[in-house]
Amino acid sequence: MKTIGLLGGMSWESTIPYYRIINEEVKNRLGGLHSAKIILYSVEFAEIEKCQSSGNWDESGEILGQAARGIEAAGADFILICTNTMHKVAAQISSKIQIPLIHIADATADELEKSHIRRVGLLGTKYTMTQDFYKKRLTDRGMEVLIPDDAAVEVINSIIFDELCVGEIREASRRKFQDAVKRLAEQGAEGVILGCTEIGLLLRQSDVSIPVFDTTVIHAKRAVEIALET
Ligand code: GLU
Repeated sequence: MKTIGLLGGMSWESTIPYYRIINEEVKNRLGGLHSAKIILYSVEFAEIEKCQSSGNWDESGEILGQAARGIEAAGADFILICTNTMHKVAAQISSKIQIPLIHIADATADELEKSHIRRVGLLGTKYTMTQDFYKKRLTDRGMEVLIPDDAAVEVINSIIFDELCVGEIREASRRKFQDAVKRLAEQGAEGVILGCTEIGLLLRQSDVSIPVFDTTVIHAKRAVEIALET
């Protein structure tokens, strides 16, 4: 079994599901007392968020690159960045290490392809929804990516940072996410990407009418697949 490196803490609320899903998946596949080999580096999220909101992405890439080095030195065989947003600096992080980085958008695109989905809605932070670093991985594979309107982008972004990242789950916010998905479906989205690792804490498949692609679940399960490859 390979050792999985997790670059987490962004936020820690969403790193817990990674740890749980990875271990559950290993148990499902191998049974008994089997569990995953994991090295977790959990960063101080306030430092990272400060870099995001001030546009200082380079500094965040340096901090995360250093953390990734630590994960590699501790013996991980490959690494996952446990947030969609910080894949904006995935190349910078990758350049500091020798081990492979499993990109969350690529793993998600693989699942969309398996489900024959071409036009997909994307929910995430405003960085993920409005900038190109994430959507381009999908459009490069022939997919069309739909995002909510400007007002909804702001609402969704605030719910992520002000509520989900601090562990607050509110029914009123769930309804706002449901509305956003409904509108994306009306525009022709055949599925929706929960492109922020906290959204799955709030929104479930049973809350919406189109297929949900939860990046946390997809990414964590991909890690197990790779860890158990022979
Ligand atoms: N975990 C979130 C994501 O997947 C947001 C927190 C962050 O900005 O890293 O994008």
